[in-house]
Amino acid sequence: MFSLENLIRPNVLKLSPYSSARDEFTGEASIWLDANENPYGTLNRYPDPYQTELKQLISEQKEIKEDRIFIGNGSDEVIDLLFRVFTQPVLDKALTFSPTYGMYKVSAEINDVELIEMPLDENFQINIDATIPYLDDPQLKLIFICSPNNPTGNLISSEKIESVLGRFNGIVAIDEAYIDFANSTSWKSKLDEYPNLIVLQTFSKARGLAAARLGIAYSNPEIISFLNKVKPPYNVSLLNQQAGIESMRNEAEIAAQIETIKFERARLVMELQEIEQVQCIYPSDANFILIEIEHANDVYLSLIRIGIIVRNRSKIIPNTLRISIGTEKENNKLLEELKKLNS
Ligand SMILES: *Cc1c(COP(=O)(O)O)cnc(C)c1O
Repeated sequence: MFSLENLIRPNVLKLSPYSSARDEFTGEASIWLDANENPYGTLNRYPDPYQTELKQLISEQKEIKEDRIFIGNGSDEVIDLLFRVFTQPVLDKALTFSPTYGMYKVSAEINDVELIEMPLDENFQINIDATIPYLDDPQLKLIFICSPNNPTGNLISSEKIESVLGRFNGIVAIDEAYIDFANSTSWKSKLDEYPNLIVLQTFSKARGLAAARLGIAYSNPEIISFLNKVKPPYNVSLLNQQAGIESMRNEAEIAAQIETIKFERARLVMELQEIEQVQCIYPSDANFILIEIEHANDVYLSLIRIGIIVRNRSKIIPNTLRISIGTEKENNKLLEELKKLNS
């Protein structure tokens, strides 16, 4: 049986959150003397702790109620908050499917929570039979599924995700950082079906706001209220909120960029197939592609020498480079260099 109360770290369950000046009074006023701010300037006031305007825009455009939205200082903050809300240091465990995004492990270690790393199978899919025995462990509180997965680029099969969601009585966080580049709908449409589901998204990839630091968690209102209780009161600055609001008003421009990136992704895949040293191009539903290439370490270093930086993932998957999709010009420069390998 799923019981949210049993999953919450006991001190968090009891916690009375800090009540900020902006919490205690939120109406209209002409003179603000409640938060020890400097009365002069343009960034002198504390920001809205609940990012109301940004959430309203997300709510309208993504057709989800505001009380199901949490905004963090990047998804990385949300990942850390999930550990702090749902796991007890030393006692509890979390689980990921590797290879995957590195922050789950870092956050687990910071929180002193054991992380079980289940290897993905040869198609980078979840091995359900191997996973099932772990799902009954009462100390396992949190599972991260990254789909499309970083660094492999593939979507995780929905049947496999459903079987984890349905069998597991802890929290399942599906990280959809790359969902805008995939031909797939978001798991947030399943929030009513699964009370243990949290969907993570970010403004850092498709929305082009990596510098601003804006991450989203979608879940049911109870889970959202615990995240709100634990977060620092002003976790999202006014500048970040404004950047997010502007982005939500520029939907058409972002949609066009996504189309261009997807077009470039397809072109890059085609051209890479012509390069002899490229052994494998893994199918991608993200804005990067993972390739297996002969002498990956040497290729990596020779690209650096001319100022092109890709991600060397050879330590995780032998002889692989992860290449983000750049502009047409950047991609051409990369291809030009890789083609020189042939000669
Ligand atoms: C890039 C990325 C993020 C984004 O994190 P932010 O803190 O929002 O920038 C989250 N999850 C995955 C899997 C990523 O690759």
